Amino acid sequence: MNNDRTPLVAANWKMNGDRAMARQLVNALVECVNGGCSAELVVFPPAILVDSVVAAAASCVGVGLQNVSQHSSGAFTGELSVGMAAEAGCRWSLVGHSERRALYGETDLQVAAKFVALQAGGLNPVLCVGETLEQREAGHTEQVVAAQLAAVVQLAGVSAVAAAVIAYEPVWAIGTGVTASPDQAQAVHKFIRQQLGEQGQTTRILYGGSVNASNAKALFSQPDIDGGLVGGASLDAQEFINVVNAAER
Ligand code: PEP
Repeated sequence: MNNDRTPLVAANWKMNGDRAMARQLVNALVECVNGGCSAELVVFPPAILVDSVVAAAASCVGVGLQNVSQHSSGAFTGELSVGMAAEAGCRWSLVGHSERRALYGETDLQVAAKFVALQAGGLNPVLCVGETLEQREAGHTEQVVAAQLAAVVQLAGVSAVAAAVIAYEPVWAIGTGVTASPDQAQAVHKFIRQQLGEQGQTTRILYGGSVNASNAKALFSQPDIDGGLVGGASLDAQEFINVVNAAER
């Protein structure tokens, strides 16, 4: 696993795209990497597009699932295992995205079990944490983020969490066009690093929530922000490449 805090920019396509779009977008990213871009790039397409994305990505761009099962096989209709993801060429997976937590009722415990299954199967988890607007306004941001992290630390151990990539994604900033200010984001990133103690010094912590080409530079230049997890703005090749360029050190 790469823990030298090389900037990482990841694209979460959510349930968007088709084969033609996937090919075109990933070709543009491969060109960006071949052109000397120094950030690491990872794409999280809908699972059904993984094959075409892996084929287009060669080894320049990482590919991952948006969600995996914590189980390795069995009667879990509609689910995908870590082994299946690995066989399809995925090296990554999101885990605990707020849409999975809110829309599909994923609990901290399930998130922790998925995290453990991913690392056991040799995949890199991007662990998503973040508070709702209500929680922020009540002054509970740190408490919420600490509890989400603690559930995973309890099951996986602090070294395992510190070796993963963490994405701080305030729920109120996801897909809303409202982004956390660089200071707000930096404060939570610093807090997350502190929660992981000494080992957190090398953890890559990404910011996610309405990142685009205009706000990326200010966010990515904060000392504890190591790149971004980008939804909407990752669906347009040029916009996403501009975000990637903002992450270069
Ligand atoms: C996301 O889905 O993780 C995300 C950050 O989305 P957006 O950039 O659209 O807010």
